Amino acid sequence: MDERSLLTSLKGIGEKKADAFRRAGIETVGDLIGYYPRAYESFEAPLDYLELSDGRTAAVCGFIEGSISVRYVKNFKITSAKLRMDGGLLPLVWYNMPYLRSQLHPGMRYVFRGRVRRKGRSLQLEQPSVYTPEKYEELMSGLQPVYPLVKGLTETTLRSALRQAFDSLGPLPEYLPESIRKSAGLASLSFATERVHFPSDKEEMGIARKRLIFDEFFLFILQLRMLRESRQKALRSRPLSEGGHAAQVIASLPYSLTGAQKKVWEEIRSDLCSDHVMARLVQGDVGSGKTILAFLGLILTAENGCQGALMVPTEVLARQHYEAFCRLMEEQSFDCRAVLLTGSMKASEKKAAREKIESGEAQIIIGTHALIQEKVIYRDLALVVTDEQHRFGVKQREMLGTKGEEPHVLVMSATPIPRTLAVILYGDLDVSVLDEMPARRLPIKTAVVDRSWRPKAYSFIREQIAAGRQAYIICPMVEESEAVDAENVTDYAEMLRGELPESCVIGVLHGRMKPQEKNAVMERFLAGEIKVLVSTTVVEVGVNVPNATVMMIENAERFGLAQLHQLRGRVGRGDAQSYCIFMRGDSSGESADPEQDTAGKRLKILRDSNDGFEIARKDLELRGPGDLFGVRQSGIMQFRIADPFEDHEIMQNAAACADRIMRQDNGLERPQNAALKQKLLLYIDKNAKNVNI
Ligand code: ADP
Ligand code: MG
Repeated sequence: MDERSLLTSLKGIGEKKADAFRRAGIETVGDLIGYYPRAYESFEAPLDYLELSDGRTAAVCGFIEGSISVRYVKNFKITSAKLRMDGGLLPLVWYNMPYLRSQLHPGMRYVFRGRVRRKGRSLQLEQPSVYTPEKYEELMSGLQPVYPLVKGLTETTLRSALRQAFDSLGPLPEYLPESIRKSAGLASLSFATERVHFPSDKEEMGIARKRLIFDEFFLFILQLRMLRESRQKALRSRPLSEGGHAAQVIASLPYSLTGAQKKVWEEIRSDLCSDHVMARLVQGDVGSGKTILAFLGLILTAENGCQGALMVPTEVLARQHYEAFCRLMEEQSFDCRAVLLTGSMKASEKKAAREKIESGEAQIIIGTHALIQEKVIYRDLALVVTDEQHRFGVKQREMLGTKGEEPHVLVMSATPIPRTLAVILYGDLDVSVLDEMPARRLPIKTAVVDRSWRPKAYSFIREQIAAGRQAYIICPMVEESEAVDAENVTDYAEMLRGELPESCVIGVLHGRMKPQEKNAVMERFLAGEIKVLVSTTVVEVGVNVPNATVMMIENAERFGLAQLHQLRGRVGRGDAQSYCIFMRGDSSGESADPEQDTAGKRLKILRDSNDGFEIARKDLELRGPGDLFGVRQSGIMQFRIADPFEDHEIMQNAAACADRIMRQDNGLERPQNAALKQKLLLYIDKNAKNVNI
């Protein structure tokens, strides 16, 4: 038997059980031993009566006093007893377990472990498990792994299958070079793999986990490094060359590029014109001017007769980029044909777009996920740009990459990822930083207020509109339901009509609308026809309406800092002074010092800074390494046992080891790295299978 053997080769696992395992994603013995516990339960020492409190899970020790009774209430059989323990008499209650009456003996000592609940004025222990004091003593010294279970799969089945697997596999071969294991202080693979399931104590569990977490990071990072290496080595059969169009565009823009934009454009330009394949991330805060850099790259690609693609996360943004690009081409009288391809387009429109792409009639392709989902055949695709990439996973990035033959890849992001995480997120990319805002930009003025301030806010919006400006109002998310959100936005707009002059056109935008309807509203807002846009967070990413100068966010305390920073970034994109109003819905002015609560502290960070990196840093300080900026949910980092936040020290160590080994032996050709190379190839192969959508 080896790790590739099917589970049915284990004793006692027939087709039916194998099915249950399959539901948990376990097909082979290897999958089984890699099915790590999601937590460990430890049995804590029994508590005294006075230590008990409502809601807590506790163990208590004592003897049963009096008799054990069973009552019938509706459909329940309620068993109750009283436990005499140090400091008091604790009622015990079980539902539908009447047989306990004959199993428990008054006068004998037991340990009971269950949830403490307040019942009237006293506490009781509900549905406790029963142990002899000796058995409990034994449990206290060990750790009980807790597994993510699926229907039909019990803890007992899992544990016995695991036991058998380890017994028949024998020691697992080590693949990490000795030098790495030594320097990182890691246990052997064999020890770690077994003890993560069967730890005899906390210390062993820690040692086992450390090794497995290290491995997960190490292989992931090594894969990214190899990818970067191969990209850098990959030669373009025909390097692009500069034809002068990009320079012409730069010279005729209504503004001059910032120093940072010039520097980054130079990096992109020289990558594009070199003979290797570019893989570059441009990281710049909201409003730092990333779009023009993407356009310049696309222009350079097109003037070489190649295709370029720009992929963005939302329909609204795709359309906006498409229109801005076409406008720029018209102004410059360049003959460069762009097409738009988004999921919501009619089948016939999509077909027409696909044909233009395949025939090469279209040089620039702008769109959403449709660019990778539709059966698009590119013709000499030389550059792929993804904007606001934090919405795309590595896999999706790769997908678009594989559509052409080794295109250059440019990734643009406004998410201020701390350097520590960049290792994981962008380990395969070179990084350019846009660390300068366009010069004439006035910092956005931000206020945090409560609802009593609403009339002032509306009169402020009236003034701004009278001065020719526009405003966004983002509506509270009442529930995680689009239907409720939609209603909210609509009701709010209705209410707002009474506050604003009749001539002032109010638009509504929410996730329930059809893409065409959304586009139409966005276009009317961009054209200045709609003055106030009442919206859910659909406008969050990337939208550019420079004439909008007010962003008002209702129930601001319910949003994450990153989201608020992105939302605020929708204003302050032109020369005029812009304003952001964070309206709190939770403190109607009563709280003595609203800045002292967490929501208040977080909003204060935003009020005091416009700098995404600074905000990210403060957020980290305030919350600890929790789910910073929603990275965890983005699905980019799905590890089985490792957590980039909790385990970031191990991650740093793994990154350092990966870099060291790449420096010494970047093709993993040395004999001492042979086992590692084989493991890595298997790992990459397995990941590649998951990419197929
Ligand atoms: P982001 O980096 O958030 O994608 P955009 O590229 O959308 O920012 O740019 C925001 C606004 O700033 C746009 O209206 C754009 O035309 C303008 N802009 C870009 N670069 C400059 C510059 N160097 N000077 C003045 N305005 C600029
Ligand atoms: Mg942008």
